Amino acid sequence: MTDLVEPQKVDIVYETEEPVRYEVIDSVAWITMNRPGFNNAQNGQMTYALDDMFNRAVQDDGVRCIVLAGEGKHFSAGHDIGTPGRDLHKDFENRLLIPGHVNKPAAELLYTREAEQYVGMCKRWREAPKPTVAMVQGACIAGGLMLAWVCDLIIASEDAFFQDPVVRMGIPGVEYFAHAFELPPRVAKEFLLLGERMSATRAYSFGMVNKVVPRDVLRAETEAVAAKLAAQPRLGAWLTKQAVNHVEELRGKSSAITAVYHMHHFSHAQNDLTMGSSIAGLDAKAMAAANKKQAGE
Ligand code: ZN
Repeated sequence: MTDLVEPQKVDIVYETEEPVRYEVIDSVAWITMNRPGFNNAQNGQMTYALDDMFNRAVQDDGVRCIVLAGEGKHFSAGHDIGTPGRDLHKDFENRLLIPGHVNKPAAELLYTREAEQYVGMCKRWREAPKPTVAMVQGACIAGGLMLAWVCDLIIASEDAFFQDPVVRMGIPGVEYFAHAFELPPRVAKEFLLLGERMSATRAYSFGMVNKVVPRDVLRAETEAVAAKLAAQPRLGAWLTKQAVNHVEELRGKSSAITAVYHMHHFSHAQNDLTMGSSIAGLDAKAMAAANKKQAGE
């Protein structure tokens, strides 16, 4: 008897070979999620491309600041739970000290995958030794939150909104549980328990967002902030972001994320046991429809 299983065979159709674009302009690396047809849903292909681009920006001494952006109407609709490019059952070359997931049985499969691709990657990108800025327009939902939250600054357009509706799947928030650090606890409870959209203006009122600007000047405003960050001393900027990250660690951020990661996976497992689906049978369409209904659209 083996404790490994045959990997599940699933057809994966990638709509692009370039799920993330990269360019350097005036010492600023622009890392742009490039699945606009799927609202930049994050699949494994995109995750590893993002990691490649963060690494490229870090290794290039000519880059002094990194901007993370999303092509199209929305920053990110979250993790890919239903496009033809959903690649849950595909192994990639792991970057962390975590094995491949596709031959792992039952709950171990997702636990292994998400430790690498979600929590592990997010913690890694948060520690990039250069200032990072998330430029957020439109939807920033669930998995999208994690991508924005790992950046040092967040600049949002007036049409941006933030939402983590995964309680609908019986899950206490996305894998990288920074909610109660990004928002005051009672607001974090409301955000999670109601799962409603939070406007950029309201997010700004709690300091979750640094700046809210009209959509048509979002790029220009982000460029201006990135240019200022790029002009700061390299080591000084690295130490400064680490100083604040360190204080967050003293407040228990990583420990909280690790603890809640286990609740998250208890929920995935419970869903699987009771419904045969780790995400409660809710695909992207079902979630989008429920979100629209909730928003009164
Ligand atoms: Zn998960």
